[in-house]
Amino acid sequence: MKYTFNPPNRVLMGPGPSDAHPRVLKAMATPLIGHLDPKFVEMMDEVKVMVQDTFLTKNELTFVVSAPGSAGMETCLVNLLEPGDECIICVNGVFGGRMVDIAERCGATVHKIVTPWGEVTSVEQVEEALKTCSKPKLVALVHAETSTGALQPLKEISEVVHNAESLLVVDAVTSWCGMPLKVDEWGIDAIYSGTQKNLSAPPGLSPVSFSPRAVKVLEERKTKVQSWFLDLNLVKNYWAGAKRAYHHTAPVSSVYAIHEALSIVLEEGLENRWKRHQDVHQKLKTELESLGFKYLVNEEHRLPNLNSVFLPEQIKDEAALRNRLLNEFNIEIGGGLGDFAGKIWRIGIMGESCTKNHVNMLIGALKELMNE
Ligand SMILES: *Cc1c(COP(=O)(O)O)cnc(C)c1O
Repeated sequence: MKYTFNPPNRVLMGPGPSDAHPRVLKAMATPLIGHLDPKFVEMMDEVKVMVQDTFLTKNELTFVVSAPGSAGMETCLVNLLEPGDECIICVNGVFGGRMVDIAERCGATVHKIVTPWGEVTSVEQVEEALKTCSKPKLVALVHAETSTGALQPLKEISEVVHNAESLLVVDAVTSWCGMPLKVDEWGIDAIYSGTQKNLSAPPGLSPVSFSPRAVKVLEERKTKVQSWFLDLNLVKNYWAGAKRAYHHTAPVSSVYAIHEALSIVLEEGLENRWKRHQDVHQKLKTELESLGFKYLVNEEHRLPNLNSVFLPEQIKDEAALRNRLLNEFNIEIGGGLGDFAGKIWRIGIMGESCTKNHVNMLIGALKELMNE
């Protein structure tokens, strides 16, 4: 019996992963070296600097967790929360809900701020929550809610959170490298992202960063972190340059990939990249609206790179049409989640998938199918 797997050549326009740059794929195919090889250590140091540069932070405790975005989420929460702590978590989609689940598993008391899907949390809601829970250990929000396409403003909320002497924790999985995200300027204390969205590297790694304020909280912990693998006291020594100590074996090829992908981002320039996502979004928006699609999120809080749209009346079976896009045109887009399952599409234009050609391909295929 012989097994072979030849994946079809898809165009990835869903909520992730996005298309990878050929340079990134090539980097992954280069020969392995040992994860303690001085050459590999040099490369990890460069990755760390590039993550700092793209997060726009000087945070010393910045590195990459050897697991996907969800593990970055868990890293931030299990390290900052101890049993008996109180925290505030804003929920306006799938990912805020997940943070609640993790925080509760840490033994924390969670005060939820629940906002309808597609909307964002307001400063007033946070102020209100701080009346019931005046000294939370942290307040957590999702910057770019991939389940709904909503972009959460952070700067004003950050001030309110810091006035309460609390830490601001941000999920930037879908915002990093695709839209403005300024860790130091916005006073974000703990942040995590992922490689498979705007970075256009394969899934499987999660960059994280912690402010000096957050590091102090880590150092003052009274109990052991419940997870051995994600315990920052142990992992941080693995990312400590020449002094590094064995913790686990880094996924060498994936680190090659993130190194190459970050180089590509910095060659393009962050601001150019933000602008590209905005420009391509405008084109996609015009085309979708002319076909009768309607955006779920108000223009003011819309993600450029994850377009959640209600389908035109004439489309009765969204799943069938999505399958035809996949099977006949090799184009992947996402369906809705939760209450929006069967009602919306989530169209991603992230990183390498964010080009006018991608928009033209999708719109051309859609027109052909809708005209049948
Ligand atoms: C994709 C995503 C995650 C999870 O990342 P994985 O790489 O799938 O583990 C977390 N938060 C948001 C907002 C996401 O879009």
